[in-house]
Amino acid sequence: MFGAICAKRAGADVLLLEHTDRIGKKLLATGNGKCNLTNLVLKPGDYHGNHPSFVVPVLERFTQYETLKLFEEMGLVWKDINGLVYPYSNQASTVLDLLRTELKRLHVKVRTEVKVKEILPDAKKGFVLNTSEGELEADCVILACGSKAAPKTGSDGSGYQLAKKLGHSVIEPLPALVQLKAEGGYFKMIAGVRSDCRLKLYIEETANRKKTLIAKESGEVQFTDYGISGIPVFQFSRFAVRALWEKKKAYVVCDFLPQMEETVLYEYLVKKKERISDWGSCEELLLGLLNKKLNLMLLKECGFPAQSKAEELSVHNLKRLCRLMKHWEIPLKGYNSFEQGQICQGGIATEELTENLESRIHKGLYFAGEIIDIDGRCGGYNLQWAWSSAYVAAVHAAEG
Ligand SMILES: Cc1cc2nc3c(=O)[nH]c(=O)nc-3n(C[C@H](O)[C@H](O)[C@H](O)COP(=O)(O)OP(=O)(O)OC[C@H]3O[C@@H](n4cnc5c(N)ncnc54)[C@H](O)[C@@H]3O)c2cc1C
Repeated sequence: MFGAICAKRAGADVLLLEHTDRIGKKLLATGNGKCNLTNLVLKPGDYHGNHPSFVVPVLERFTQYETLKLFEEMGLVWKDINGLVYPYSNQASTVLDLLRTELKRLHVKVRTEVKVKEILPDAKKGFVLNTSEGELEADCVILACGSKAAPKTGSDGSGYQLAKKLGHSVIEPLPALVQLKAEGGYFKMIAGVRSDCRLKLYIEETANRKKTLIAKESGEVQFTDYGISGIPVFQFSRFAVRALWEKKKAYVVCDFLPQMEETVLYEYLVKKKERISDWGSCEELLLGLLNKKLNLMLLKECGFPAQSKAEELSVHNLKRLCRLMKHWEIPLKGYNSFEQGQICQGGIATEELTENLESRIHKGLYFAGEIIDIDGRCGGYNLQWAWSSAYVAAVHAAEG
C-alpha cells in the first residue's frame, strides 16, 4: 500500500494486487490493535539479518521523520510514548484507513482476491504475472508479500516461492518476536504471572559446548504454562529460535530482582528470618518479595516445603535461595509457530539486492518489507522497515 502510494506519487501507473479479500489486514493486528507505526529513536543496531547493515542506506533514504511527514500529509495525528509512535486515535484502523483513502485519492488501481502464482521475466513486456485471475503485464514488479508470520492475515509465504522461481535465494524463514517454550515442570505453577526481570540468553556451541552470552533484556516477563513470553523475551527470541532450529542448546538466566544485589537480598532474608524466627514459615519468609506463585515455585525448586519453619533454613540454604532468585536457569526446548510469531527472520538474501532494493538477477524486479532478510526489534521497527523499503523500491521502480 505504502509502495503503491509512493510509486503513484512518483508518476507511475500502479496496480496493487492482494490475494485476500482486503488489503492491509496485518496492520489491524499491530501494536495490540493500536499500531506502533514507527520509532523515533531507531538505530541500525535495532535490525538483524545475515547482513544487518543492509538497512542503513534504506533507512537513511527515507527516515522515520519523512514517514511521519507523509502520514501527516494524509491527516494522521500521532503521539510519542517513549519514542514509540502510535496514532493519537489509538486505533490501527486509522493508519489503514488513511492508506486506503490515499490510494483512493490517487486513483491507484487495487485488485483484491487476485493471487500472484508466478512472475515470468519477459524480454519485451518486462514481466508477465500469472495470477488466479489470468495473466497481467508489468514493466516493473515490487514483491511485498510479507513473510510466513500470522498467515491468517494473508502472508502465507507464497512470496518466497515466487522469488525462488525467479532464481533468488531465501534464508530459511523462522518465527521471531515469539514466545519460547521451556523445559521443567514449574511453568504450570506460575502460568499467568507477570514479573519485572532481567534476562540473559546463552547459547551453547555444539562442537565445544562453549556457552556464549548472546543478549540481555529487561522488562515484564510473562510466564505461561509452557514457558516465557513478553517484550524482553520477544526481543531476543530470534537468536534462541535460530539456535534451537540449528539443534544448539539455548537457555535463559532469569534475575527476578534486578534492582537488588545478591548480597542485599541475602541480608534482607537474614533480617526477615530473625524477625519471624520463632513462628514463621518459609512461605512467610518470602512474603513481600515476589508474586506469591513465584515465591512458592522458588521454594519448591530449592526443595523447601512452603510450610516448613523458616528458622530451619541453614546459611547455606538461604544462600541457595538467593542464588536461585538471581540466577534461575531456564533451559529452552522450542518456540511457538508462525501463527503466534509477530514477524519472520530470514527471507530474500540481501546480497542479491542493490541498495535501491532492485534484484541483481532481474532488472525491474524490486523487493520491500518483511520478505527481505531483515528483522527488527519490537517497537515500531518492522513497520518502519516496511515504509522505508517500500518508498525506496517504489521511487526507483517508478523511474524504471
Ligand atoms: C500481531 C502482530 C503485531 C505487530 N505489531 C507491530 C507493531 O506494532 N509495530 C511494527 O513495527 N510491526 C508490527 N508487526 C510487524 C508488521 O506488521 C510487519 O512487519 C509488516 O506488516 C510487514 O509488512 P509487509 O508489507 O512486508 O507484509 P504484510 O503486512 O504481511 O503484507 C503482505 C501482503 O501481501 C499479500 N500477499 C502475500 N502473498 C501474496 C500473493 N502471492 N499474491 C497476492 N497477494 C499476496 C498478503 O495477503 C498481505 O496482505 C506486527 C505483526 C503482527 C503479526
